[in-house]
Amino acid sequence: MENIDKPKIVVSRCLGFSACRYNGQNVPDKFVNKLKDYVEYITVCPELDIGLGVPRDPVRLVYEKDEIQLYQPASGKVYTEEMESYSLNFLNSLKEVDGFILKGRSPSCGIKDVKMYLGKEKAVASTKTRGIFAWKVIEKYPYVAIEEEGRLTNFRIREHFLTKLYIMFKFRKVKDSKSMAELVKFQSENKYLLMAYNQKEQKLLGRIVANHDNKNFNELIEEYRNHLGNAFARLPRYSNYINALMHIFGYFSENLSSKEKEFVLDTFNKYRNGNIPLSVPINLLRSYTIKYEQAYLLEQSIWAPYPEELMDISDTGK
Ligand code: SF4
Repeated sequence: MENIDKPKIVVSRCLGFSACRYNGQNVPDKFVNKLKDYVEYITVCPELDIGLGVPRDPVRLVYEKDEIQLYQPASGKVYTEEMESYSLNFLNSLKEVDGFILKGRSPSCGIKDVKMYLGKEKAVASTKTRGIFAWKVIEKYPYVAIEEEGRLTNFRIREHFLTKLYIMFKFRKVKDSKSMAELVKFQSENKYLLMAYNQKEQKLLGRIVANHDNKNFNELIEEYRNHLGNAFARLPRYSNYINALMHIFGYFSENLSSKEKEFVLDTFNKYRNGNIPLSVPINLLRSYTIKYEQAYLLEQSIWAPYPEELMDISDTGK
Protein backbone atom coordinates (compact mmCIF):
# COMPACT_ATOMS: atom_id res chain seq x y z
CA MET A 1 0.00 0.00 0.00
CA GLU A 2 1.18 3.50 -0.78
CA ASN A 3 2.63 5.32 2.21
CA ILE A 4 1.51 8.93 1.98
CA ASP A 5 3.49 10.13 4.98
CA LYS A 6 6.96 9.40 3.68
CA PRO A 7 8.89 10.78 0.72
CA LYS A 8 9.15 8.40 -2.21
CA ILE A 9 12.60 7.66 -3.58
CA VAL A 10 13.57 5.54 -6.56
CA VAL A 11 16.85 3.84 -5.71
CA SER A 12 19.32 1.73 -7.69
CA ARG A 13 18.65 -1.82 -6.54
CA CYS A 14 22.31 -2.76 -6.19
CA LEU A 15 22.68 -0.22 -3.34
CA GLY A 16 21.82 -2.79 -0.71
CA PHE A 17 18.64 -4.41 -2.03
CA SER A 18 19.89 -7.12 -4.38
CA ALA A 19 23.09 -8.65 -5.70
CA CYS A 20 22.33 -7.42 -9.22
CA ARG A 21 25.59 -5.81 -10.32
CA TYR A 22 27.24 -7.22 -13.45
CA ASN A 23 29.67 -9.17 -11.24
CA GLY A 24 26.96 -10.50 -8.92
CA GLN A 25 27.71 -8.00 -6.16
CA ASN A 26 25.44 -6.00 -3.90
CA VAL A 27 26.95 -2.71 -2.70
CA PRO A 28 25.08 -1.62 0.45
CA ASP A 29 25.28 2.07 1.18
CA LYS A 30 25.26 3.56 4.69
CA PHE A 31 23.11 6.59 3.86
CA VAL A 32 20.62 4.60 1.76
CA ASN A 33 20.30 2.21 4.68
CA LYS A 34 19.85 5.02 7.20
CA LEU A 35 17.03 6.54 5.15
CA LYS A 36 15.09 3.25 5.08
CA ASP A 37 12.86 4.14 8.04
CA TYR A 38 12.11 7.62 6.72
CA VAL A 39 11.26 7.06 3.07
CA GLU A 40 9.40 4.68 0.82
CA TYR A 41 11.89 3.10 -1.56
CA ILE A 42 11.06 1.94 -5.07
CA THR A 43 13.99 -0.10 -6.36
CA VAL A 44 15.08 -0.36 -9.96
CA CYS A 45 17.82 -2.20 -11.85
CA PRO A 46 17.54 -1.14 -15.49
CA GLU A 47 20.19 -3.59 -16.75
CA LEU A 48 18.54 -6.56 -15.09
CA ASP A 49 15.11 -5.38 -16.15
CA ILE A 50 16.04 -5.24 -19.84
CA GLY A 51 17.04 -8.88 -19.65
CA LEU A 52 20.79 -8.78 -19.02
CA GLY A 53 21.32 -11.50 -16.42
CA VAL A 54 23.51 -11.74 -13.32
CA PRO A 55 26.41 -12.16 -13.66
CA ARG A 56 26.62 -10.47 -17.06
CA ASP A 57 29.27 -9.15 -19.35
CA PRO A 58 29.67 -5.44 -18.58
CA VAL A 59 28.15 -2.76 -20.79
CA ARG A 60 29.71 0.64 -21.48
CA LEU A 61 28.78 3.92 -23.09
CA VAL A 62 30.22 4.51 -26.53
CA TYR A 63 29.90 7.62 -28.69
CA GLU A 64 29.52 6.60 -32.31
CA LYS A 65 27.60 7.89 -35.34
CA ASP A 66 26.68 11.08 -33.43
CA GLU A 67 24.89 9.17 -30.70
CA ILE A 68 25.50 7.63 -27.32
CA GLN A 69 25.20 3.84 -27.39
CA LEU A 70 25.01 1.28 -24.62
CA TYR A 71 27.45 -1.31 -25.87
CA GLN A 72 28.46 -4.74 -24.58
CA PRO A 73 32.00 -5.40 -25.87
CA ALA A 74 31.95 -9.16 -25.14
CA SER A 75 28.88 -9.80 -27.31
CA GLY A 76 29.18 -6.85 -29.69
CA LYS A 77 25.52 -6.08 -28.97
CA VAL A 78 24.06 -2.58 -28.59
CA TYR A 79 21.31 -2.16 -25.98
CA THR A 80 20.54 1.55 -26.38
CA GLU A 81 16.98 1.18 -27.67
CA GLU A 82 16.05 -1.42 -25.06
CA MET A 83 17.41 0.79 -22.29
CA GLU A 84 15.71 3.95 -23.56
CA SER A 85 12.33 2.37 -24.00
CA TYR A 86 12.59 0.52 -20.66
CA SER A 87 13.50 3.80 -18.92
CA LEU A 88 10.55 5.67 -20.43
CA ASN A 89 8.11 2.87 -19.59
CA PHE A 90 9.39 2.56 -16.05
CA LEU A 91 9.27 6.32 -15.38
CA ASN A 92 5.83 6.67 -16.97
CA SER A 93 4.55 3.86 -14.76
CA LEU A 94 5.51 5.74 -11.59
CA LYS A 95 3.16 7.99 -9.79
CA GLU A 96 4.78 11.14 -8.42
CA VAL A 97 8.15 10.63 -6.74
CA ASP A 98 10.20 13.01 -4.62
CA GLY A 99 13.73 11.87 -5.34
CA PHE A 100 16.22 9.41 -6.82
CA ILE A 101 19.42 7.90 -5.39
CA LEU A 102 21.31 6.29 -8.24
CA LYS A 103 24.53 4.27 -8.41
CA GLY A 104 27.41 6.42 -9.54
CA ARG A 105 29.64 5.69 -12.56
CA SER A 106 27.19 3.15 -13.98
CA PRO A 107 26.53 3.47 -17.75
CA SER A 108 22.85 3.08 -16.90
CA CYS A 109 22.36 4.78 -13.52
CA GLY A 110 25.25 7.26 -13.08
CA ILE A 111 24.20 10.92 -13.16
CA LYS A 112 27.69 12.44 -13.55
CA ASP A 113 31.16 11.48 -14.62
CA VAL A 114 30.22 8.23 -16.35
CA LYS A 115 32.98 7.15 -18.72
CA MET A 116 32.00 7.29 -22.39
CA TYR A 117 34.39 5.83 -24.95
CA LEU A 118 34.80 7.66 -28.26
CA GLY A 119 34.48 4.48 -30.32
CA LYS A 120 34.05 0.73 -29.95
CA GLU A 121 37.66 -0.25 -30.55
CA LYS A 122 40.07 -0.98 -27.75
CA ALA A 123 42.11 1.81 -26.14
CA VAL A 124 40.12 4.71 -27.59
CA ALA A 125 39.90 8.06 -25.82
CA SER A 126 37.05 8.71 -23.43
CA THR A 127 35.06 11.56 -21.97
CA LYS A 128 32.40 11.93 -19.24
CA THR A 129 28.60 11.92 -19.45
CA ARG A 130 25.66 10.38 -17.59
CA GLY A 131 24.02 6.96 -17.86
CA ILE A 132 21.10 6.34 -20.21
CA PHE A 133 18.52 5.65 -17.48
CA ALA A 134 19.78 8.71 -15.57
CA TRP A 135 19.32 10.93 -18.66
CA LYS A 136 15.67 9.93 -18.82
CA VAL A 137 15.21 10.49 -15.08
CA ILE A 138 16.60 14.02 -15.29
CA GLU A 139 14.53 14.81 -18.39
CA LYS A 140 11.30 13.61 -16.81
CA TYR A 141 11.89 14.87 -13.26
CA PRO A 142 13.95 18.07 -13.56
CA TYR A 143 12.51 19.42 -10.29
CA VAL A 144 13.08 16.55 -7.81
CA ALA A 145 16.11 15.62 -5.68
CA ILE A 146 18.47 13.41 -7.71
CA GLU A 147 21.86 12.25 -6.46
CA GLU A 148 24.42 9.47 -6.63
CA GLU A 149 25.29 7.52 -3.50
CA GLY A 150 28.98 8.51 -3.70
CA ARG A 151 28.30 12.25 -3.78
CA LEU A 152 25.99 11.91 -0.78
CA THR A 153 28.99 11.21 1.44
CA ASN A 154 29.67 14.97 1.20
CA PHE A 155 27.88 16.78 4.04
CA ARG A 156 26.72 19.85 2.05
CA ILE A 157 25.48 17.76 -0.89
CA ARG A 158 23.64 15.42 1.51
CA GLU A 159 22.08 18.36 3.37
CA HIS A 160 20.94 19.89 0.08
CA PHE A 161 19.56 16.55 -1.13
CA LEU A 162 17.53 16.04 2.06
CA THR A 163 16.25 19.62 2.05
CA LYS A 164 15.10 19.31 -1.55
CA LEU A 165 13.66 15.84 -1.00
CA TYR A 166 11.49 16.98 1.91
CA ILE A 167 10.39 20.23 0.30
CA MET A 168 9.26 18.32 -2.79
CA PHE A 169 7.51 15.75 -0.61
CA LYS A 170 5.63 18.45 1.32
CA PHE A 171 4.79 20.18 -1.94
CA ARG A 172 3.37 16.92 -3.35
CA LYS A 173 0.99 16.78 -0.40
CA VAL A 174 -0.12 20.36 -1.11
CA LYS A 175 -0.67 19.41 -4.74
CA ASP A 176 -2.74 16.39 -3.74
CA SER A 177 -4.84 18.52 -1.38
CA LYS A 178 -5.92 20.73 -4.33
CA SER A 179 -6.27 23.51 -1.77
CA MET A 180 -5.20 27.09 -2.44
CA ALA A 181 -5.10 27.68 1.32
CA GLU A 182 -2.53 24.86 1.67
CA LEU A 183 -0.39 26.40 -1.08
CA VAL A 184 -0.49 29.80 0.64
CA LYS A 185 0.52 28.12 3.92
CA PHE A 186 3.36 26.23 2.17
CA GLN A 187 4.72 29.45 0.66
CA SER A 188 4.50 31.19 4.01
CA GLU A 189 6.18 28.44 6.07
CA ASN A 190 9.01 28.06 3.57
CA LYS A 191 9.59 31.78 3.04
CA TYR A 192 13.02 32.00 4.65
CA LEU A 193 14.24 28.65 3.36
CA LEU A 194 13.31 29.78 -0.16
CA MET A 195 15.02 33.11 0.44
CA ALA A 196 18.15 31.30 1.59
CA TYR A 197 18.20 29.26 -1.61
CA ASN A 198 17.14 31.74 -4.26
CA GLN A 199 15.59 35.11 -3.45
CA LYS A 200 14.55 35.79 -7.05
CA GLU A 201 12.57 32.54 -7.23
CA GLN A 202 11.15 33.11 -3.73
CA LYS A 203 9.62 36.40 -4.91
CA LEU A 204 8.39 34.80 -8.13
CA LEU A 205 6.74 31.98 -6.18
CA GLY A 206 5.08 34.61 -3.99
CA ARG A 207 3.64 36.27 -7.10
CA ILE A 208 2.40 32.90 -8.43
CA VAL A 209 0.59 32.23 -5.14
CA ALA A 210 -0.94 35.73 -5.16
CA ASN A 211 -2.61 34.60 -8.42
CA HIS A 212 -3.53 37.99 -9.85
CA ASP A 213 -4.52 36.28 -13.13
CA ASN A 214 -7.09 34.07 -11.41
CA LYS A 215 -5.63 30.83 -12.78
CA ASN A 216 -7.19 27.57 -11.70
CA PHE A 217 -5.39 25.39 -9.14
CA ASN A 218 -4.04 22.89 -11.67
CA GLU A 219 -2.46 25.55 -13.86
CA LEU A 220 -1.06 27.38 -10.88
CA ILE A 221 0.41 24.32 -9.19
CA GLU A 222 2.35 23.25 -12.31
CA GLU A 223 3.83 26.71 -12.65
CA TYR A 224 4.65 26.76 -8.94
CA ARG A 225 6.33 23.34 -9.06
CA ASN A 226 8.60 24.34 -11.92
CA HIS A 227 9.79 27.45 -10.12
CA LEU A 228 10.15 25.53 -6.86
CA GLY A 229 12.46 23.15 -8.75
CA ASN A 230 14.45 26.16 -10.03
CA ALA A 231 14.78 27.52 -6.50
CA PHE A 232 16.35 24.27 -5.28
CA ALA A 233 18.31 23.48 -8.44
CA ARG A 234 21.69 24.18 -6.87
CA LEU A 235 23.35 24.17 -3.47
CA PRO A 236 22.63 27.47 -1.72
CA ARG A 237 25.33 30.13 -1.57
CA TYR A 238 26.66 31.12 1.86
CA SER A 239 25.82 34.77 1.09
CA ASN A 240 22.18 33.92 0.25
CA TYR A 241 21.79 32.05 3.53
CA ILE A 242 23.24 34.98 5.46
CA ASN A 243 20.83 37.33 3.70
CA ALA A 244 17.88 35.20 4.89
CA LEU A 245 19.36 34.98 8.41
CA MET A 246 19.77 38.77 8.48
CA HIS A 247 16.06 39.15 7.66
CA ILE A 248 15.20 36.84 10.56
CA PHE A 249 17.64 38.68 12.82
CA GLY A 250 15.75 41.90 12.04
CA TYR A 251 12.70 40.58 13.95
CA PHE A 252 14.41 40.83 17.32
CA SER A 253 17.75 42.62 16.88
CA GLU A 254 16.33 45.70 18.63
CA ASN A 255 15.87 43.61 21.77
CA LEU A 256 19.54 42.62 21.92
CA SER A 257 22.43 44.38 23.59
CA SER A 258 25.24 45.62 21.37
CA LYS A 259 27.44 42.76 22.65
CA GLU A 260 24.77 40.20 21.70
CA LYS A 261 24.35 41.76 18.24
CA GLU A 262 28.10 41.69 17.74
CA PHE A 263 28.18 38.02 18.69
CA VAL A 264 25.39 37.14 16.21
CA LEU A 265 27.07 39.05 13.37
CA ASP A 266 30.41 37.45 14.21
CA THR A 267 28.72 34.02 14.05
CA PHE A 268 27.36 34.86 10.57
CA ASN A 269 30.86 35.83 9.47
CA LYS A 270 32.33 32.59 10.75
CA TYR A 271 29.71 30.70 8.79
CA ARG A 272 30.46 32.80 5.68
CA ASN A 273 34.15 31.95 6.00
CA GLY A 274 33.41 28.24 6.33
CA ASN A 275 34.69 28.05 9.93
CA ILE A 276 31.42 26.72 11.40
CA PRO A 277 28.48 24.74 9.99
CA LEU A 278 25.12 26.32 9.16
CA SER A 279 23.54 24.72 12.22
CA VAL A 280 25.42 27.13 14.52
CA PRO A 281 23.87 30.44 13.28
CA ILE A 282 20.56 28.63 12.70
CA ASN A 283 20.36 27.42 16.30
CA LEU A 284 21.49 30.76 17.65
CA LEU A 285 18.67 32.58 15.83
CA ARG A 286 16.21 29.85 16.71
CA SER A 287 16.92 30.33 20.41
CA TYR A 288 16.15 34.08 20.12
CA THR A 289 13.00 33.25 18.12
CA ILE A 290 11.85 31.06 21.01
CA LYS A 291 12.86 33.63 23.62
CA TYR A 292 11.01 36.48 21.90
CA GLU A 293 8.07 34.26 20.95
CA GLN A 294 8.02 35.12 17.28
CA ALA A 295 5.11 32.87 16.30
CA TYR A 296 5.48 33.44 12.52
CA LEU A 297 9.19 32.62 12.61
CA LEU A 298 8.70 29.54 14.77
CA GLU A 299 6.66 27.99 11.96
CA GLN A 300 9.46 28.42 9.43
CA SER A 301 10.97 25.32 7.80
CA ILE A 302 14.45 26.86 7.71
CA TRP A 303 15.09 25.65 11.29
CA ALA A 304 14.77 21.98 10.33
CA PRO A 305 14.00 21.40 6.63
CA TYR A 306 14.17 17.61 7.15
CA PRO A 307 13.91 15.29 10.19
CA GLU A 308 16.65 16.16 12.65
CA GLU A 309 17.43 12.46 13.19
CA LEU A 310 18.78 12.43 9.63
CA MET A 311 21.31 15.14 10.41
CA ASP A 312 24.79 13.60 10.27
CA ILE A 313 27.75 15.95 10.08
CA SER A 314 30.20 13.28 8.89
CA ASP A 315 31.85 14.27 5.65
CA THR A 316 34.32 12.47 3.44
CA GLY A 317 35.45 15.84 2.07
CA LYS A 318 34.87 14.59 -1.47
S1 SF4 B 1 24.01 0.46 -11.29
FE1 SF4 B 1 21.89 0.38 -11.96
S2 SF4 B 1 21.88 -1.06 -13.67
FE2 SF4 B 1 23.81 -1.37 -12.58
S3 SF4 B 1 23.40 -3.00 -11.13
FE3 SF4 B 1 23.00 -1.08 -10.06
S4 SF4 B 1 20.83 -0.74 -10.35
FE4 SF4 B 1 21.43 -2.26 -11.84
